[in-house]
Amino acid sequence: MLSPLKNISRFLGIDTAKEKYRYGIDPQFGYTSQEKIPDHWVKTTCGYCSVGCGMYLGVREGHAVAVHGDSDHPVNHGILCPKGLTEHHFIHSKDRATEPLLKIKGRLRPVHWETALNTLVDRFVRIQRNYGNQALGVLSTGQLVTEEFYALGKLVQLGFKTTNYDGNTTLCMSTAVAGYKRSFGSDGPPGCYADFEVADCIFLVGANIADNHPILWDHLRKNTSRTLIVADPRLSKTAMLADLYLPVKPRSDLTLINGIMKILIDAGKIDRIYIARHTHRFEELVSHLKKYSLDFVSEQTGLPRDLIKKVAHTYGDAKAGLIAWTMGVNHSTQGTETVNAINTLALITGNIGRPGAAPFSITGQCNAMGTREAGFTSSLPGYRKFENLQDREELARIWKVPVEEIPQERGWAYPDIIEGIVKGKIKALWILATNPFVSYPNQELLKDAISRLEFLVVQDGFHPTPTTEVADLVLPAAMWGEKEGTYTNSERRVLKVNRAVDPPGEARSDFDIFLEIAKKLGVSNALFSGWKKPRDAFEEWKTVSQGRLCDYSHMTYEAIEAQGGIQWGGERLYTNGEYPTSDRKARLWAVDGCSEPEPPNDRYPFLLNTGRTVEHWHTRTKTGRIELLEKMSPEAWVEINPEDARQLKIRQHEVVRVASQRGEIPKVAVRITSTVPSGHLFIPFHYIEACANNLTVSEFDPISREPNYKQCAVKVEKLSFAERGGF
Ligand code: SF4
Repeated sequence: MLSPLKNISRFLGIDTAKEKYRYGIDPQFGYTSQEKIPDHWVKTTCGYCSVGCGMYLGVREGHAVAVHGDSDHPVNHGILCPKGLTEHHFIHSKDRATEPLLKIKGRLRPVHWETALNTLVDRFVRIQRNYGNQALGVLSTGQLVTEEFYALGKLVQLGFKTTNYDGNTTLCMSTAVAGYKRSFGSDGPPGCYADFEVADCIFLVGANIADNHPILWDHLRKNTSRTLIVADPRLSKTAMLADLYLPVKPRSDLTLINGIMKILIDAGKIDRIYIARHTHRFEELVSHLKKYSLDFVSEQTGLPRDLIKKVAHTYGDAKAGLIAWTMGVNHSTQGTETVNAINTLALITGNIGRPGAAPFSITGQCNAMGTREAGFTSSLPGYRKFENLQDREELARIWKVPVEEIPQERGWAYPDIIEGIVKGKIKALWILATNPFVSYPNQELLKDAISRLEFLVVQDGFHPTPTTEVADLVLPAAMWGEKEGTYTNSERRVLKVNRAVDPPGEARSDFDIFLEIAKKLGVSNALFSGWKKPRDAFEEWKTVSQGRLCDYSHMTYEAIEAQGGIQWGGERLYTNGEYPTSDRKARLWAVDGCSEPEPPNDRYPFLLNTGRTVEHWHTRTKTGRIELLEKMSPEAWVEINPEDARQLKIRQHEVVRVASQRGEIPKVAVRITSTVPSGHLFIPFHYIEACANNLTVSEFDPISREPNYKQCAVKVEKLSFAERGGF
């Protein structure tokens, strides 16, 4: 039998087969004991990231005991990454939230659901009566099923009548959303995973897919004739696999894209027919790019001139060029404009709407796309615009409500809700399936904000978490494996999620909780008439989405499941060059980069970069409870360049302190490595014990409101003999 660690390290090559379980062999972890052999399997979709891998969840006597990849699934063909392979382990974790808890005399005590939900409605309504409807803020997640997002949006905006509703998608994908809207007139990633298999040139900007979206690598691996270009200040695992690696200076990605556009325009390697037929403002772009000389771009990006030229011509000469990005672009105060530059490069070279040719954002959470489509956050359901009267009238007609009830503008985004609490405008907050006490930047500010609330409700699958611990009311929620609905993955593929086991104790699905709250608020008939199950919400959502870019009207639960998901909008968007704008044309953007919000200085001489590792997921609420993943990556670390370590006299694995103007990580182990350039540090953001967000800065993209997690100024300090514990 291979050791679990050795086995799991082979994950990229495993094609699992459920037959093996019948003989007591777990294909990933070697032999399993007899009692772990499932008595049946339930087809479902992974609940971590937005790759959207198909899998089976094995159940024995009501317990989730195994998973294996779905060999027939078009996304992953049976392969799973370490998180997917161990996903069943969190379901029966001892830290699951099992009963509603209400703070009474300073302590959280168990109460009946009736009391819990009556209290929620009473307190929210009372606070809204005292301070106005907008005094209630709601922070949601990318982890619910689409049916729940649709229900929650209606409940919050039409039931509680507050627009101060956002989700942690704003900490992740709102930049891509804003960029798509500004370029194409609507949210919606244009490309698909098959593009990774057929593109001649794949250009990854700030995207470490080997760690963060591992199964996408399997699509890329099939493409043996492509050139892979990776731009990333850190030599990530993905960068190590590149044909051309661009160690760009932080925040110079936008300048690099502008430089590439100028080279291609000057060389005539652009698609003038596509530009003329399908875009606006080309002349403005040409004039804007005059200042992006090769020397200027080389100086700004830190890249050699020849390398920049080579990259430009490789992309320009490709018959099909794919540019994909994730958080290296999104987590920045210039993120939206960088997305616009990427989209513009794709448009002027005609690299959109064809096999292998697209600008393509790789989404974060399993159903961040679902909240974008059906929620009320970045747009009205069905990508309708708040500001568009026709869109509002259409929704009002479908819902049979006066048009005045449909909000005319979106409320505050996540960081503005937090600021709103500090300013005394938001008095009650409802947090669902997210853990800001690890994930939000500048934790000191967040703690200050939360301490000012009159009432905090946290709805989560686990307790305690850093966020449930400070709640006034905790609502225990069912999680993945315990409820039904749909997710949409990064390539717009709507996927089925199924209930395999019962939730623990008294925990209920988020969907049931929303329906119950609506009853107590007296809006059940108006909002959820006849709804009993997620399928009822799905049927209504099909009507609401009909005729929109994200049209579900042709889908059924059965067809979604049978086909391994159905992509709304077809395999690719914009195949005919028409865009959802008033004149059907896309807009080209002439934009410049801006300086770092907090450059290194004498006191804080290092630039901190943050990111993820393959074994963990976001704030480790789930993965931190899985023994195997914890063993693989038990604690945070800080990466430092050998030259800097030598100057500071820091040894490999030494424990140091890292501090910024806002806070510190008192103890974190050092990894001396050339993967980070001199002057840079890297810390994974998953660990509350060494919380990178104690350090990060309260700066946000002015358009998308996404945080600038990627750069802030920090210092590294050696610990004293006593601080090290006397060794
Ligand atoms: S790549 Fe994402 S969706 Fe696939 S198994 Fe891993 S975490 Fe799950």
